Amino acid sequence: MTTMNTPTDTNTLSSYNPSTGELVGTVPVTPANQVDAVIAKARAAMPAWAALSAQERADMLKPAGEKLIERADELGKILSLEQGKPLAEGIGEFKGCGMRMNDEVDEVAKAMIPDVLTDETVESTLYYDPYGVCAAITPWNFPALMPHWTIVPALVAGNTVILKPSEQTPLVADEYVKILNEFLPEGVLQIIHGEDDQGKMLVAGDVNMIAFTGSKTTGQHIMAAAAPGLKRLILELGSKDPCIVLEGADIDKAVGFAANNTFRNCGQVCVSTERIYVQDTIKEEFVSKLIEKVKEFKVGDCLDETSTIGPMVMNEQKVHVLAQIEDAKAKGAVVLCGDTPLDGNFIQPTILDNMNHTMDIMVVETFGPVACIQTVKDADEAIELANDTEYGLGAVFFGEEQVVRDLARRSTAGMVGVNKSLGGATGSPWVGARMSGIGYHSGPLGHRQFCQLRVVSTNKGS
Ligand code: NAD
Repeated sequence: MTTMNTPTDTNTLSSYNPSTGELVGTVPVTPANQVDAVIAKARAAMPAWAALSAQERADMLKPAGEKLIERADELGKILSLEQGKPLAEGIGEFKGCGMRMNDEVDEVAKAMIPDVLTDETVESTLYYDPYGVCAAITPWNFPALMPHWTIVPALVAGNTVILKPSEQTPLVADEYVKILNEFLPEGVLQIIHGEDDQGKMLVAGDVNMIAFTGSKTTGQHIMAAAAPGLKRLILELGSKDPCIVLEGADIDKAVGFAANNTFRNCGQVCVSTERIYVQDTIKEEFVSKLIEKVKEFKVGDCLDETSTIGPMVMNEQKVHVLAQIEDAKAKGAVVLCGDTPLDGNFIQPTILDNMNHTMDIMVVETFGPVACIQTVKDADEAIELANDTEYGLGAVFFGEEQVVRDLARRSTAGMVGVNKSLGGATGSPWVGARMSGIGYHSGPLGHRQFCQLRVVSTNKGS
């Protein structure tokens, strides 16, 4: 079975189905020596695009939302074939992008309206201007959504955009860009294909900002490469999200969350629950219910309607997860379910107990279908362990409302869910703290990350 998408020759990138190893399709690789020409085209298109009002740019994108919904069944299938998630999730990802489009573009346009500050003598206007050319570099785990949440605010803010999607999921990104381009002027949105080299060329080229979503290591490379030009950055990186379950928690709710959030997309989600700290007094009930829930999952081909969990996106990812499981077992982990060998890129959903922080799987991002349980005596121990990580994307705590609210303020994560998943109210940004990122996405605060703030001050009454 082919394990990873790599260029088959210098001209072609082939995309393989991780469930079967079959070829799904190909895209042309962008020759490295053409990346500068792509950037020059984006720069040439920039003045006319920036001269439109944000609302005009927003309105131009709205019909693309309808098109995404209209074609969701067909494009969702490509997504699932290429990335591996069950078909309903692939279709849902495209549909979701389309359904949110109108509200999102209007929200970005609204965030671009200048603010006015006054005191007794001075009036200052805060303008949100585009940076120029934005490089959008995205991962494979949400191959439609990740390009969407980067491209849409960048464009409505008045930047022109070059997308470099993951080499694991080039077909989905290509289709997404084609749909938007039905409604955009030439050169405003372009795509380049290839592996790391094309990403490196883009970052090194004449771009003004880089909006990157991907691994911590690549984020570090990009930050270093952007430093000489002080190119503006948004980095949305990996994590090792904890879930704390304490006395007073609604156990069924906590189990439902832990099962869904650990195993969704085969654990290949940036805010997957990768560590569970459960209080000793309620552990037995929590664990027995979690095992029941996890046994309901069915691993299988993405097109099999009964599958709830697909394969890992590539064999390298499977090898990494299995090595972490073996390391944990060697250090005392107890297997409560799963950990049975499966063929191809599939992994049986697995629950490990008796965990501690000497184990690689409690420290290094897993991105796989493994629930890791460590017992704690109280809230203090739980928060200490939850914060014992270099990462800081999400954290979710269950327990008595006031206890976990207080605990949330002691968390070092960027987003905390208290007796709920971590999704925020409409307009909340997506925030990675510590090694999980720099800057943020979404909501008015996130949209303004795609802008250069300029302040013009005048004397009042002059
Ligand atoms: P990755 O870092 O390997 O690759 C991401 C993209 O960067 C790809 O398009 C790749 O070709 C490109 N790239 C690689 N090296 C580069 C370089 N030196 N310069 C420029 N571009 C380069 O990440 P991945 O394996 O595709 O994605 C999984 C990671 O993404 C996980 O760590 C996950 O947690 C993270 N992620 C984070 C969020 C978030 O919101 N924080 C969301 C989704 C995924």
